[in-house]
Amino acid sequence: MTITGQLLIGAQRVRGANGVFHGIDARTGELLDPSFGGATLEDLERACALAEAAFDAYRETALEARAVFLETIGEQIEALGDALIVRCMVETGLPRARLEGERARTIGQLRLFASVLRNGDFVDARIDLAQPERKPLPRVDLRLRNIAIGPVAVFGASNFPLAFSVAGGDTASALAAGCPVVVKAHSAHPGTSELVGRAIACAVRQCGLPEGVFSVLFDSGRELGQALVANPCIKAVGFTGSRAGGLALMTIANGRDEPVPVYAEMSSINPVLLMPGALTARGDAIAQQFAASLTLGAGQFCTNPGLVLAVDGAALRAFEQAAAAALAQAQASTMLTPGIHTNYARGIERLAAQQGVARLASGLVGGRFDGQAALFATHARNFLAQPVLREEIFGPASLIVRCSDVSEMHTVLKALEGQLTVAVHLDTNDRDACRALLPTLERKAGRILANGFGTGVEVGHAMVHGGPFPATSDSRSTSVGSRAIERFLRPVSYQDLPDELLPEALRYGNPLALVRRVNGEVKQRGSHDG
Ligand code: NAP
Repeated sequence: MTITGQLLIGAQRVRGANGVFHGIDARTGELLDPSFGGATLEDLERACALAEAAFDAYRETALEARAVFLETIGEQIEALGDALIVRCMVETGLPRARLEGERARTIGQLRLFASVLRNGDFVDARIDLAQPERKPLPRVDLRLRNIAIGPVAVFGASNFPLAFSVAGGDTASALAAGCPVVVKAHSAHPGTSELVGRAIACAVRQCGLPEGVFSVLFDSGRELGQALVANPCIKAVGFTGSRAGGLALMTIANGRDEPVPVYAEMSSINPVLLMPGALTARGDAIAQQFAASLTLGAGQFCTNPGLVLAVDGAALRAFEQAAAAALAQAQASTMLTPGIHTNYARGIERLAAQQGVARLASGLVGGRFDGQAALFATHARNFLAQPVLREEIFGPASLIVRCSDVSEMHTVLKALEGQLTVAVHLDTNDRDACRALLPTLERKAGRILANGFGTGVEVGHAMVHGGPFPATSDSRSTSVGSRAIERFLRPVSYQDLPDELLPEALRYGNPLALVRRVNGEVKQRGSHDG
C-alpha cells in the first residue's frame, strides 16, 4: 500500500490544503516522502459532521456486528504486512521486535474489546420492576443501560505509534462503546498513521458501517487539534502526551458551551521504593533489573522508573554502584523525534544543574538523536525543597533519593503528585513497614506493584493504567484494559416505557441474553426475569 499523504474523511481520501509537513527519519532527521497536507477547518467540520451523522446508527449496531468490526480492523492491520513495520521503524527509531510486539498488542486489544462486546456486561443492564401495589406510593418500572457518549476525538501518542495511536487503546475502546472516532494523527509518525487509518477505513467498508464511524486528520500545526476538541459534535477526548498539551486541551474542553471530558494521560515519574530488607538481600539484582527497565525503549515509557526512594547506608550505596555500572554500559538508542530528544537533553541538563544533585552515571554516547542514559542522586531534604526535581524527564533518566529512614521515604512519597505506578521492592521482613505505606501508595497511584517495574503494561480486565493528576486528568478511569470502555459510556434510565420502545438490552424476556441486575440481584443469561 503506497503512502499518499492524504487525509481520511469518512470514505473519502483528500489532500489537505492547510500547509505541508513531512514525516522525519528519527535516526537522521531527514524528511521522508511523501509530504502530508494539513487538514483545513472545513475538513475537520466534515469529519465531525460525518461522525455525528453516523452516531445513532453505529451505537445501536448489534454487539456481535461491532465485535466483528473490531476483529476485522485487526485483520486489516495484519494484512498491511511488513510495510507497516518498516515505515514505523523509520519514523520512530523503534526496533523491529518492539514494533512487531506492539502490532500484536494492538490486534490483541481489538480482540479484547470484541470479547467485551460479546460478553455484554459493559451495558450494565439494571431493572427495578414496577410495584403497583407498593404503599404509600406505587413504584415505577425503571430500567438502566449504558449508551455510547458520542463522537470521540483521539490524539495518537508518540511513544506507542501502534498500540496507542490511530487504532490503539483509545480508538478500540471508543469504537467498542459505540462511538465514532476522529483521530488527530501524531505528527511524529504520519505514514504509520495513514496506513493504519486506511486499514480501519477498509474494515468500515467491509462491515457495511456508516462512513463517518472513522476519520483521520493530519495537522501541520496545533490549530486543528484545538478546533477538534472545541467542535460541538465531539463528546469526549482521549489523549496521551505532555502535561502542557493535555492541559491545553482540557482548558479548551472545559471552556466550550458544552464542556466535555478529556481523558488525558500526561506525566508520571513512577517511584520505585527499595525497602531495607530487599535492598540488603538483593540490591545488586534489583539494580540490574532497574537499569534494564530504565533504558527499555530509550526510556520513552510513561511508566519509566524516574525516581528511586531508599534508606541511605551501605546497602543503598552498593545499589547505586551496581546501577551506575550497568547504566554506564547501556547503549544509547534513537529517541522518537528530534524534539523529544531535545526535551530530554534539556531535562538532564536542568537536573544536573540543581543544587545538591550528583550525577552517578552516564550511559554510552550514541548517534545524534540518541538518548544517553543518566542516573542522579540527591538527599530527601533537598528533594523536598526543590519541586523541580519532581518533574518528569521523558527518557532514560532517573533520580535516587537518599532518605534517613522509612519514615522519611513516606514523607517524600506524600510530597509527590499523582502517579501511574508505584513499585515496591520488599522482602518478608519489610511487610509491616510496607503495610504502613499502603494507604499513601493507594492515594498516589493507579497501580501498585511488588518486586517488579511498571514498564510492561498487561492488557487485561484488572489493569489500571491511570492515576491521580497529573498522571491523568481523571483518576476514575484507565486507558489500558477492558475498563477503558467506561470512559466513553453514559447511563440512561427508562421509566415506564412500553416494552416495544425499550432498547433490546432492557426488554422483557432478555432477548440479548445479558447478565442483568433485576431488583438488585444479578440474574444470569438464561434468566427471563423482567
Ligand atoms: P505532545 O507534545 O503533548 O503531543 C501529543 C499530541 O497532542 C500531538 O498530536 C500534538 O500535536 C498534540 N498537542 C500537543 N500540544 C497541543 C496543543 N497545545 N494544542 C493542540 N494540540 C496539541 O507530546 P509528544 O509529542 O508525544 O511528546 C512531547 C513530550 O511529551 C515529551 O518530551 C514528554 O515530555 C511528554 N510525553 C509524555 C508521555 C507520557 O506517557 N508520560 C508520552 C509521550 C510524551 P502535534 O502532533 O502537532 O505535535
